[in-house]
Amino acid sequence: MPNVLVDLRIALVQLNPQLGKLDSNIRRAWTLLNKFNDQISKSKKPDIVVFPEFALTGYNFHSREQIKPYLCHPQEGPSYELAKEVSKKFNCYTVIGYPEKSIDNDEKCYNSALVMSPLGKLVFNYRKSFLYETDKQWQCEENPQRFEKFKLSFPSKNLNLNCAIGICMDLSPYEFKAPFNDFEFSSFCLENDIELIICPMAWLHSSSITSSTEKADAERKKMEISRNLATLNVPIYGSQGNFHIDIDNNNKTSAVEKDSEKIGKDYRDLCKPDMSNVNYWILRFLPFVDLSVRKDWFDENLLHDIWRSESRKSYIGATKEHYWKMHGKNAVLAIANRCGVEDGTTLFAGSSGFYKFNGNADNSTDELKLDSTNKSVEMLGNLGKGHEGIIMRDVHFEVQR
Ligand code: GLN
Repeated sequence: MPNVLVDLRIALVQLNPQLGKLDSNIRRAWTLLNKFNDQISKSKKPDIVVFPEFALTGYNFHSREQIKPYLCHPQEGPSYELAKEVSKKFNCYTVIGYPEKSIDNDEKCYNSALVMSPLGKLVFNYRKSFLYETDKQWQCEENPQRFEKFKLSFPSKNLNLNCAIGICMDLSPYEFKAPFNDFEFSSFCLENDIELIICPMAWLHSSSITSSTEKADAERKKMEISRNLATLNVPIYGSQGNFHIDIDNNNKTSAVEKDSEKIGKDYRDLCKPDMSNVNYWILRFLPFVDLSVRKDWFDENLLHDIWRSESRKSYIGATKEHYWKMHGKNAVLAIANRCGVEDGTTLFAGSSGFYKFNGNADNSTDELKLDSTNKSVEMLGNLGKGHEGIIMRDVHFEVQR
């Protein structure tokens, strides 16, 4: 199959929206978008703009009652309207996360992301499949279709791209209980030849207080968080309006081993990406990442039992036909994560960025390199963990047609 070279310019918007502050969240989003527009020349407009999960409403809703005023049908409401204006302004696709109530039944609610075309038409609506504990507090429903493949067409490039959306928890093991090696979402993407993976997220920083935090520790941790934010000179809801705009293709992210001491676990250095989560996200896409032991599985027929006992089409990137389905192929992952703090307890990890999986096999890649040091992953750039901003990159990759 011949390879076609694709040139795509993607922008990721990192915001710190606060619950109940819809007007100011939207106002700040526009201030940022206008600043960004002033910095790019007319010929450098993005082809796609991606916003985070629940980009305009904030994330930590604790009941159906509380989220009710913000639930919208896919073709109405502030997120739909903003996406439409952004698409027209930049002549681009816009992807934005928002709380959805179904058009057929207002009681059925989802954590969704809509896709707006450059002409301002809704072309796709994806509902989160794997729910996080916070989603369950307002009785969010799982996507009944589970993960989905859709096409984005770029007529001026004579191109249709195979795409999938994963919203935050979609990247984790189902309910945090499924076997880690199932890699449900990334295996779906691999098996369905997805070329562009778009992830609107509200992913937490590890210093957050969650349901798994011991009750006895929670109060002390909360104090620590507020003291730490004061030291950083940001309010209890995190940084807002200190916009970081990164449109420099040369500003790539340096690799750091997952066990390196250089990876701080604390919420500080807000201008720097949270490399602990960057490494974790790469690990969750292991089916797309070079791993030399796969060849042994294949050559020695070690996956025989897996193919026989399960209805699986792939196992950590290996298929019945080939030791690594991605070998010689490319795929791009674009993660737009929110930043900031909610409830004084939930810190979001920001670090929105781009990853190109280049499909290169280097048969010396051992289990120790399942992180950003793996040569089959090209890190094209990340925003820092704590400030609002936009990162844009020209992404070059090959697709088979
Ligand atoms: N696994 C994600 C996290 O720990 C889930 C958060 C989400 O779905 N918003 O941050």
